[in-house]
Amino acid sequence: MIKAISYLGLGTMGSGMASNLLKAGYQLTVWNRSIEKCKPFARKGARVAGTPADAARDVDLVIYMLSNDQAVEDVVFGAKGILSGIKEGQIAMDMSTVLPAMSSREQEAYAKRGVDFLDVPVFGSKQESADAKLWIMAAGNKAIFEKVKPVLEHLGQTVHYFGKNGNAVAMKLVGNLIVALEMEALAEGLVLAQKAGLDLNTVMEVVKVADFRSPLLVSNGQNILKRDFSTSFALKLMLKDAGLIEKFAGSLQSPIPALRVVEKNLQSAVDLGFGKENASALIKALEKEAGVEVKAH
Ligand code: NAP
Repeated sequence: MIKAISYLGLGTMGSGMASNLLKAGYQLTVWNRSIEKCKPFARKGARVAGTPADAARDVDLVIYMLSNDQAVEDVVFGAKGILSGIKEGQIAMDMSTVLPAMSSREQEAYAKRGVDFLDVPVFGSKQESADAKLWIMAAGNKAIFEKVKPVLEHLGQTVHYFGKNGNAVAMKLVGNLIVALEMEALAEGLVLAQKAGLDLNTVMEVVKVADFRSPLLVSNGQNILKRDFSTSFALKLMLKDAGLIEKFAGSLQSPIPALRVVEKNLQSAVDLGFGKENASALIKALEKEAGVEVKAH
């Protein structure tokens, strides 16, 4: 049974999950590159580790949720990285959105040390992470998955098992392809509605109920109308994911013509300086081109 857990990467997503593990009664160790993010956890009784290697010491399960492949490279494979501290019999779990090829590399490196590894990315954002309502996918050894499933059930509302390592992050990229196209469709649609002089509150009332409705369109649409671009999922992370999708689809010769257009729009919005805002700020690139601002009256 898993009792002691280390959580590395206390960003938007990681901080919510680590809090829920504390609430669930696990013995928690935390590590974050910027140490100040560890302080609220220390106050609640978590041990603060000095390095990723130190964080991996004396726990049953090591979980990390980091920005991108480079961050995983640093935290797992770097000097004083997880691999230099983790021991045979422990379990490692990467929840970051990375390339399936990175998951395979992680799995091989851990296997050499007798460590089991799962890739466990999630859908849902800041709120779902805080509320333990994430939609979780997991891949790797089935028996190890069964062992960590009770932990995952403290973090999310659903858990799907995807088979061999790399498949869960592949599913994450499939989902984020759909998310990126939905966000672009929302932005283009709202700019067109504004240009056409439609009442935007009524537009959103229709978006809420029509047969193309989705929670993602509703929450982002409402926030755009309020000009609230506070970050749940940063625009720069969505651009990072578009790059991952492009590489992944390219490696399988799977066509992604629409994603390429969205990627350009995301890049334009980042170039305009909106990278740290929410992904919905991709509308700002279209607004600039259209000479309008989408706002409820
Ligand atoms: P975030 O708030 O930017 O947090 C990123 C975390 O990674 C921080 O703890 C950061 O440390 C750490 N980090 C970045 N580069 C590092 C490096 N080189 N070495 C060590 N630590 C490093 O991002 P997030 O929104 O939580 O997203 C984390 C992952 O989840 C990403 O892969 C993202 O695509 C994925 N994801 C996000 C959402 C969402 O809605 N936000 C949803 C699903 C999946 P510092 O605090 O020191 O910067």
